[in-house]
Amino acid sequence: MRRIWLAAGIVLLLVILAVLPAGCGRAENIQKTVMVMDTVATLTASGERADDAVRESIERLREIEAMASPKGEHSDLQKLAAAAGNGAWIPLHLEVFHMLEVSQEYSRISNGAWDVTAGPLVELWGIGTEQAKVPTAGELAEAKAKVGWQKLELDPETKSARLCEAGMSLDLGGIAKGFAADEVRKIYEKYGIKNGLINLGASSIYALGKNAKGEEWRLGIRHPRSGDTDARLAVVAISDAALSTSGDYERFFERDGVRYHHILDPRTGRPADNGAASDTIVVAGELPDAGMISDLLTTTVFVLGPEAGRAFLEQLPPEVRGMICDRELRLWTAHGCHECLQQVHQDFALVE
Ligand code: ADP
Ligand code: MG
Repeated sequence: MRRIWLAAGIVLLLVILAVLPAGCGRAENIQKTVMVMDTVATLTASGERADDAVRESIERLREIEAMASPKGEHSDLQKLAAAAGNGAWIPLHLEVFHMLEVSQEYSRISNGAWDVTAGPLVELWGIGTEQAKVPTAGELAEAKAKVGWQKLELDPETKSARLCEAGMSLDLGGIAKGFAADEVRKIYEKYGIKNGLINLGASSIYALGKNAKGEEWRLGIRHPRSGDTDARLAVVAISDAALSTSGDYERFFERDGVRYHHILDPRTGRPADNGAASDTIVVAGELPDAGMISDLLTTTVFVLGPEAGRAFLEQLPPEVRGMICDRELRLWTAHGCHECLQQVHQDFALVE
């Protein structure tokens, strides 16, 4: 008799376990890698609802990709470019409007080193595409004339924008992934995820809480001049912060011994040539738009070059830390960024 009761008890327990919601009370460790926004994105999350958080995040990344891309039926950029110069205001997705509002502020304070109206130049050089080429002086002058952040107008009331001259176009390649990292972070928060890593390629990483060992996330920064793509400049340990790195090794081609890379100086119309080889920015998560700001700042500071770039960073809030690696492999740091560097490779020296 007792055995029957025992068997019945076990069956009941199994039934209860089967009807309990999956994952109840148990932390899941989820990691998924997908190709999105032209990059390999790896989302890591730990928490009871990590699976849901990662799934929703991937959907969100695809939505942002459609909104921020220069082509396609959901592309605001295509509508803006098609209407450039005709005076019409184009209503935008709130997300795109927000990127443009932040972008314009940084164009203003960087005197145009950062400029999302660089679209015609990005297209002309075609760096990273099969059409990459060195343009003629005439082509360059023509494209440059269509660039200028003052010729992008925003209307906060109607969340609309317009481009003032025919032939203008926007490029969100230096900001959209950072924005996307911020959006994924919000989804993680909604699902109660306190620990995770949002990795949208070196250009946009967001580290939440701690890693699986309960320590700060340790992120390797690539050595900008080593043939070995695994060689590191240093390791940066962060928690609840965004980290972005830009370098002239990411996308480039070489012609007659000259490296033509994808970070363009809107003032010359050419790949930025002010002495930087790479730069890394860390923005504390308590600053709004941390991911987006770290992403756009690496491009901005690269354009400015080591000295002016460091001076520019020093004027920003102390939650923004940064490091510029120049072509002699000297490291220019701002707001105590040297303190977050570990295992600095012997090829590099700090500039005081
Ligand atoms: P990625 O993550 O694609 O390597 P970055 O974050 O370094 O790129 O940004 C570079 C991209 O930003 C370029 O590919 C281009 O789309 C865009 N871009 C290049 N120069 C500028 C600039 N001066 N201002 C704004 N955007 C730029
Ligand atoms: Mg960037």
